[in-house]
Amino acid sequence: MSAPRVENFVNGVWKVPHSGNRFESRNPAHPGEVIGTFPESGQADIDEAVSAATGAFEGWRALGLVKRAEYLLKVAYYMEADLDPMARILAREAGKQINEARADIVEAVHTAQYAFAYGHIGQYGRVMGDEVATKRCYEILEPRGVVVAITPWNFPVALPFWLTGLSLVLGNCVILKPSEYTPMCGAKIAGWFEKAGIPPGVFQVVQGAGETVGASLVAHPKTHVVLFTGSYEVGLKIKMEVAKHANKVCTIETGGKNAVLVMEDANLEMAVTAGILSAFKTSGQRCVTGGRMLVDDKVIDRFRERFVETAKRIKVGDPLDESAFYGTMINPQGVEKGKRFNELARKEGFQVLLDRNNEPPPTPDGYWLRPFVYTGAWRNTSTVLTEEAFSPHVAIVPVRGLEQAVSVYNDTRFGLSGAIITEDYRKAKYAEEHMECGIFYWNLPCIGAGVRLPFGGVKQSGNLIPSAAGLLPVLTHPKAVTYNLDTKIVMAQGLSAEIK
Ligand code: NAD
Repeated sequence: MSAPRVENFVNGVWKVPHSGNRFESRNPAHPGEVIGTFPESGQADIDEAVSAATGAFEGWRALGLVKRAEYLLKVAYYMEADLDPMARILAREAGKQINEARADIVEAVHTAQYAFAYGHIGQYGRVMGDEVATKRCYEILEPRGVVVAITPWNFPVALPFWLTGLSLVLGNCVILKPSEYTPMCGAKIAGWFEKAGIPPGVFQVVQGAGETVGASLVAHPKTHVVLFTGSYEVGLKIKMEVAKHANKVCTIETGGKNAVLVMEDANLEMAVTAGILSAFKTSGQRCVTGGRMLVDDKVIDRFRERFVETAKRIKVGDPLDESAFYGTMINPQGVEKGKRFNELARKEGFQVLLDRNNEPPPTPDGYWLRPFVYTGAWRNTSTVLTEEAFSPHVAIVPVRGLEQAVSVYNDTRFGLSGAIITEDYRKAKYAEEHMECGIFYWNLPCIGAGVRLPFGGVKQSGNLIPSAAGLLPVLTHPKAVTYNLDTKIVMAQGLSAEIK
């Protein structure tokens, strides 16, 4: 069977790119399998999408919050109905194990439902008092216009919804540029919006490479908001481009070097479970992956032993295998980067506790990496301890007590997520207050996102505007409105209204 040809979704129809150029998406577990071919979009396709979004904006905005929200509920319904077949597509395209693939879609469903609920509550501003009692003051949240959402491959359904759900409900039109590694997931999202009858131009998907299509959408004079999730290096480029446009805003959600802190009083079984989930889910390819276990030296021997024993048992397997724990890396570059970090850990003098990469791969040509665990004292000059490996590569580092654990946690350029495992709520409270991160967990792994919460980091993990439920400030412009209910003009602050 030949691979499907899937087009851009522009102005309500599936459009062949003007250039005719295409690219392929392949299954990382079986790279010979082509998932589909997709448009390598050019400037003409981008201009067309931006012009359709600009044209659709006034009508979409005029529809009002509640009616707009109803589209998101329909989309959630279609997504839910498609859960199992879609999870298989996601697992085949992104290499995520099938249970993780399902969770990705469930998160998208919940995010769409959240966006619907937000709209149905119907609040889009505040009524305020004024020192002149006959004045009525409002703050009304106005949509900004055309939102560009640029997403990574690792949450190819959930993440586009974090960025588009509230954007649409609040009255913006959205152009999604999915990762070039998961274009089929992006196209399926467009399919759900099409089925829901979204008006032409309100939600569009333009496929292609980041450096061309992504960069052009960011620089386009008629786009108003850029919502980016991906690597720090690309995020920084986007922020610099956006800075050239006075009337454009952006959020950048980037990487991390996250950690699980294990205190001397921790429930060790819980600590090991939290550590394994943090280090190895999605093959370590999550922004919130815990690449560092910072363990009190009083319990480190017991923790290390149990952690390594558990890591030895983890089943790395075909993403469609229900019994596997994690699937593939996304591409050969991901494998190369992981291997480079593993080698570097040796070169930097760390003791390797486990390297399963000599085991036979689940498929001969797939992109696999197995767990790699090492240990050694903290040094902030070490690359492997401070930089994002984005692979199943984890360090177990001894610390002495809570304060040192927190100070080691803080000693990198990132600040995305962190967890502490302790039975002592005072320690948890101290960690919550002193760990420099945007996402904090107590007695949980440092992965996972709640759709009703903001999601974002501090330091070089983002630009301090969280994503998901935290997006409100960039998706709308608060307009200050004042009505005079009096028959004469009375000014505030004692300013005279008398004309002399
Ligand atoms: P990436 O930065 O390579 O790509 C992300 C997106 O940006 C893709 O759609 C890509 O096509 C596009 N892009 C690339 N160059 C561009 C440019 N010059 N202009 C505009 N767009 C461009 O990231 P990736 O490999 O897909 O994902 C992995 C990274 O994402 C990791 O660093 C991970 O930590 C991070 N991530 C962060 C979060 C978060 O919420 N903080 C969530 C998931 C992933």
